[in-house]
Amino acid sequence: MTVFHDSQSTTALVGMAGFVVGAQTLIDGEWWLHVETTASVVGCEVCGTRAVGHGRTRTPVRDLEISGRPTVLVWAKRRWRCPDPDCEVSTWSEHSEQINPKAVMTERARKALADIVNIEGDTIASAAATFGAGWHTANTAVAAYTDPVIADPGRLEGVTAIGVDEKRFLNATPKQRTRFTTQIVDLENHRILDVVEGRSRSALGEWLAERGEEWCAQIQVATLDPAAGYRAALEEHLPNATLVVDHFHAIKLGNTAIDDVRRRVQQDTLGHRGRKGDPLYRARRVLLSASERLTEERFEWMQALVAAGDPDGELGAAWNAKELLRAVYASNDLAHAKRRLTDFYQYAAEVDVHEVIRLARTIDRWQNEILAYHTMGHTSNGRVENLHMLTEKIRRNSHGFTNITNYRRRILGCLGTQWDTIPTHRIRGRQPHLIA
Ligand SMILES: [Zn+2]
Repeated sequence: MTVFHDSQSTTALVGMAGFVVGAQTLIDGEWWLHVETTASVVGCEVCGTRAVGHGRTRTPVRDLEISGRPTVLVWAKRRWRCPDPDCEVSTWSEHSEQINPKAVMTERARKALADIVNIEGDTIASAAATFGAGWHTANTAVAAYTDPVIADPGRLEGVTAIGVDEKRFLNATPKQRTRFTTQIVDLENHRILDVVEGRSRSALGEWLAERGEEWCAQIQVATLDPAAGYRAALEEHLPNATLVVDHFHAIKLGNTAIDDVRRRVQQDTLGHRGRKGDPLYRARRVLLSASERLTEERFEWMQALVAAGDPDGELGAAWNAKELLRAVYASNDLAHAKRRLTDFYQYAAEVDVHEVIRLARTIDRWQNEILAYHTMGHTSNGRVENLHMLTEKIRRNSHGFTNITNYRRRILGCLGTQWDTIPTHRIRGRQPHLIA
């Protein structure tokens, strides 16, 4: 933090060696500090002759905030002249490692801004406002301090279990279809390894190929969103991995079936999409809750709404099917899971509901990967699901992500990198490549 005494005399600018502060003024809620360097004897950088002062130019640069106020350093930057008439150099400006030429922020402010975004998870816009800087200035600073770290191949070393998920990146507009990304997660260390554009076999396959055969051979487990393209890419590139469709992804399929039935029944019975006040629409969220999380009262409320809006019991059937699928995951062991999977198939075959039959077909195509959940030690866990929630939060808070490079940097800067915020000896012991 910058410290200064009074406006009469100069005092050292703490943390920026060689600079002193002169006058200070409060302008529109921001501190403006007049600073200069103390260098008085300077040699010509070509011939070494002692240089002569040649005036000053005033350069404003944004620095760390003081007492919660954005702060501007007005640097009275010296110009120097070489007095030797035979020297090819005429005049030049002094420079500082702490303020790059043409920079609008000091280096320490740029670093602090990047930390606010990467470590505290602020948006670029909010971090920019803290320093009184513009969005592009802030984004450039974050890029400068993040890109080299996320480009370090050491960041991906030692991974043995990955999760692959499809993530919505941009919602559809009248001119453009919805765009997706594929997110690759380290299941053991609960961090995001990468984000690539697209959700196809080739999007994932190319990323895996770039990692190299040695890296791929170390992967023992891969959980995935049940998508055929992902399965094909993982099978092609990961010779030693068992593929798993975990609890989280399978239940998502079950919930999709419930939503689809609800929408169709609403349309069939009411002649329009669900609206506020329609019984099934009112039940839309509770229908997706896990049954054991419902109080008896809430369960009865849900049942009453479903009874009122679903005359043929189709929605109830979809709900039961999801609960039977959940039971597969809740099984104690593989044999138990297999029996419960049979129960699920039998039920789906008995109830004549299109969406439930479709769900059962999908589950059948992924049966090996679903049962592998029980042989691979229950790969999914709350910390990985939490990562998914955090990525979605970053995406939502930073409306404006139209650029995959900015999006990837934000996700990996926040959730893919271990920053130096814990005692250094711990980081050294574990991941020396991160502090290079
Ligand atoms: Zn010279």
